[in-house]
Amino acid sequence: MRVIKTTKSLCPVDLRVLDAELWEVDGQVLMKKSCPEHGNFEDVYWSDYKEYLRAEQYRDHGIGLSNGREPKVGCPRDCGLCRNHMTHTTLLIIELTNRCNLRCLICFAQAGAKNGTGDLSKEQLRSILEYAQEINYPLRVRGVGNSGGEPTLRDDLPEIIQMEKELGYDYVLIMTNGLRLAQDIDYFKKIRDLDAWLYLQFDGVTPEPYIKARGLDLWPIKQKVLENARKIGYNKIALIPTLAKGINDDQVGDMIRFSAENSDIIKFLVFQPVSFSGRIDTTKLKEMRITNSDVIRLAEEQTRGEIKKGDFFSLPMNQTLARMITKGGQNQDFCVHPHCGLISIVDYEKGKLIPVPRYIDNEKLYKNMRKGFELKWSRPRMMWSLMTSSILHISPKLWFKLLPKLLTTRSSKSITSLLTNWLPETWLTIGIMHFMDPYNFDLDRVQNCALHFGVIGKDSKPRLIPFCSMNSIHRLSMNGKGELTEADLIVLAKSQEQATQLP
Ligand code: SF4
Ligand code: SF4
Repeated sequence: MRVIKTTKSLCPVDLRVLDAELWEVDGQVLMKKSCPEHGNFEDVYWSDYKEYLRAEQYRDHGIGLSNGREPKVGCPRDCGLCRNHMTHTTLLIIELTNRCNLRCLICFAQAGAKNGTGDLSKEQLRSILEYAQEINYPLRVRGVGNSGGEPTLRDDLPEIIQMEKELGYDYVLIMTNGLRLAQDIDYFKKIRDLDAWLYLQFDGVTPEPYIKARGLDLWPIKQKVLENARKIGYNKIALIPTLAKGINDDQVGDMIRFSAENSDIIKFLVFQPVSFSGRIDTTKLKEMRITNSDVIRLAEEQTRGEIKKGDFFSLPMNQTLARMITKGGQNQDFCVHPHCGLISIVDYEKGKLIPVPRYIDNEKLYKNMRKGFELKWSRPRMMWSLMTSSILHISPKLWFKLLPKLLTTRSSKSITSLLTNWLPETWLTIGIMHFMDPYNFDLDRVQNCALHFGVIGKDSKPRLIPFCSMNSIHRLSMNGKGELTEADLIVLAKSQEQATQLP
């Protein structure tokens, strides 16, 4: 039992900034902190210390923001982004509307809350989109996620996507519960024609998780979205399960297998361990808490070892890869904190899940690439080293699989386009990202965040706020509390039932 890191966190009661410590205790990593007014708090940060250390070894750093706002009162209250922020925006997230056609019990955005901000106007959206490019200059933000509330409630979503593309965002996502896409195939066709991606809320492959987490059975709706996608020839789908103990932690393996079996249309599966922000019942923290290391353990157990914990790597490893494929890092900053997320890729062949990292001596390949950056090798030398170490450390079997795509795809502008354009159809990318809440909030992670909310501040000007900072702190001051009472929920449950009828 010992302290392994000191950081800053929040008091979960009044959100004041507190000193916090990470402790190794019986093979787990716990966050401990103490508020002079509200007492001591303890939460599981990572359930497996060994995996925590393995993730840590891929720590990398963003290249910093030179155009950020002047910090005034100290992190995390200066979000804007401020000049102390370490990483550029990989994904800009905009809540187009606070309206939603569901009232999920675990919604971190408190969508539909009474004092919600409503819809952003097109002018406001444009100002956020332009500001994000300005503050990230000279790098370009390529990814934008249209979120909510439920973004498909906006009939003008196709026009908004058009505007985003015109402003240089070439990777456009729609973060949706899928209701409208299940019910309205013509609307779905418009999304397809704009080449946008669906990030589809997806809690499992049976009715039970939906009933527990969302209050009603949405499984037929999810199946209908996938059926409609096939019908209209659409294949840009990422499934996004929010994972919570006792709700769907027994379906990790089934969700991986389901996604792999449907990899003709599903390209990503991104598990999000539940975050205790927003509408969720925080008294269930101990019962429902699940961390990144739990997810990879469950993946191993529930695929009976077809995928192992060691097949996952922490996300900042991508920073090195991204620099490699994009002019030596001059136009790419794809770095987050090593304890935010994990990634792996699996191939699905003849009913078997085959993790792609098994074809690669990843440690050696990675070490060699890192060495190149640390020693500031010239680009030709770097490319030569990449080529030779790829031959040495990647199995010929993998080259054989990749070759047809490599020969037919001309270039890759970003890591995302690498994942989507260069990879064989039978491959599924599995990601895990654990969004933080006031209980496990770690300032070190937030300062390295690359997912940024674009919002209009109280001064009517655009601001960017790191995702976890927004949900843990800033959302309350921007929206007011706006919580729904129990009576509100009963009335809303009835309208939900009507809203989810299929034609
Ligand atoms: S989280 Fe980032 S943007 Fe926000 S105050 Fe801290 S350093 Fe600045
Ligand atoms: S959104 Fe949260 S979990 Fe994801 S990179 Fe940012 S700080 Fe980390």
